[in-house]
Amino acid sequence: MNVGHKDVPAVGKLIFINNEFVSSTSGKLFSVSNPATEENIADIEEGDKADVDKAVAAAKGALEFGSPWQSMDASKRGRLLDKLAELMERDKAYIASLEVINSGKTYREAFFVDVLSSVRVLRYFAGFADKISGKTIPIDGEYFCYTRPEPVGVIGQIIPWNFPIPMMVYKIAPALACGNTVVLKPAEQTPLSALYLASLIKEAGFPPGVVNIVPGFGPTAGAAIASHPDISKVCFTGSVEVGRQVMTMGAQSNLKRLNLELGGKSPIVVFEDSDMDYTIEKCHHALFFNAGQCCMAGSRTYVQEDIYDEFVQRSVNRANTRIVGDPLDPATESGPQLDEAQFKKILAIIESGVTEGATLHCGGQRHGDRGYYIKPTVFSDVTEDMRIGRDEIFGPVQCIMKFKTLDEVIAKANSSDYGIAAAIFTSDIDKIMLFSSRVKAGTVWVNCYNWLTPQTSFGGVKQSGMGRELGECAIREYTEVKTVTMKAPAKV
Ligand code: ADP
Repeated sequence: MNVGHKDVPAVGKLIFINNEFVSSTSGKLFSVSNPATEENIADIEEGDKADVDKAVAAAKGALEFGSPWQSMDASKRGRLLDKLAELMERDKAYIASLEVINSGKTYREAFFVDVLSSVRVLRYFAGFADKISGKTIPIDGEYFCYTRPEPVGVIGQIIPWNFPIPMMVYKIAPALACGNTVVLKPAEQTPLSALYLASLIKEAGFPPGVVNIVPGFGPTAGAAIASHPDISKVCFTGSVEVGRQVMTMGAQSNLKRLNLELGGKSPIVVFEDSDMDYTIEKCHHALFFNAGQCCMAGSRTYVQEDIYDEFVQRSVNRANTRIVGDPLDPATESGPQLDEAQFKKILAIIESGVTEGATLHCGGQRHGDRGYYIKPTVFSDVTEDMRIGRDEIFGPVQCIMKFKTLDEVIAKANSSDYGIAAAIFTSDIDKIMLFSSRVKAGTVWVNCYNWLTPQTSFGGVKQSGMGRELGECAIREYTEVKTVTMKAPAKV
């Protein structure tokens, strides 16, 4: 299969180093398939340590003093990011279609969320490039002191399969705005859009070596990035388990700076004074968006006891009307899960929910007979000690729990090891303020959900990770502050 850009070869040579598509050192290939049909759609060259070494050498070379990238005006870096945004917008329908056949997400979500929101992120950081400034500091004595925010160096970026385009753009856009260079590994399941974007990066005019892309597997290519001595920082999005390994490898190699965006089990708290129709719809989308494959999915829905039964029944009705099917059909609301491993894992967790005593109202099984589809599933009577109430399911499984009081629900919301997001639905401002200040989460949504914008920083507390993506915080993640102190003749 050809990923569709004139510069991307149809077969072979699919590792992007120094602005060229080159063969992997080992010559090994791996298969990429379409989750909706279970069919192979491409064989991609497999990068491993030897290829990561070449990519890091290219990224390091591109940072050398006097190189085109190192000496480029900050405003020009911004114009290159703007150009990349323009090229993505030009090819938006193609990129969205490519993502649909590789990941199984619906065309509607791929087009509006993955592609167009990423274009906005590129433009946001394009504008930041020449506005990253230091301070002058009035220090004691006859000295003049200022700070310079400088690029961190070569950044290793390891991304997951659930939002391949936004995960890549959230990471490369601020890294490049700040003048770093990048070695990125897409998830082995979904490498196609990253390769397409590589061709756009070249077309936009970024100098060779600024962005390098090495498709491959985690324990080989990913581990080579996490432990490479010439990579200064690793930004990783994925599971807690692998995040822990990446942290260890970063510490043991060269004490890498680290940004981790890991799992979640986000609570949504629904009070009896909320607007029932609106809230049911929001809670439904909070969970079923992207077929539930979302680190910030609203996967624990806490409903106040007086409206609990009605809320459960109406949530089940909504789940039963969700349109599951061909992700290329504009009417489809949910496509398949990513692959057989995810499909089996989710069905096993659903089974544990039944065994542990939760009430299964709908779904719980395969949808259709081809593709990794699971019927929208709703459980009630869920508690935090059950696996479905505690673990990240990463699938279309809504778990509805009951509570009485604000104090009780805050304690339950905070009982998780995760802390990526939380939400509250109520018209009572006191409850909103108490909940927002006491809940342990990186983001709190009030009477809304999943509202991510380029300007708002996003990331987790507790085992959901460390560091922030997007917004002004991302600029701090990709710069190091250097303090310059000069002996001055006299105080002025
Ligand atoms: P998920 O469960 O969502 O697939 P993972 O944490 O397994 O999440 O994978 C996220 C990313 O981390 C992928 O790009 C994957 O290849 C990579 N990865 C997996 N194992 C390792 C590892 N040992 N070292 C570095 N990266 C890894």
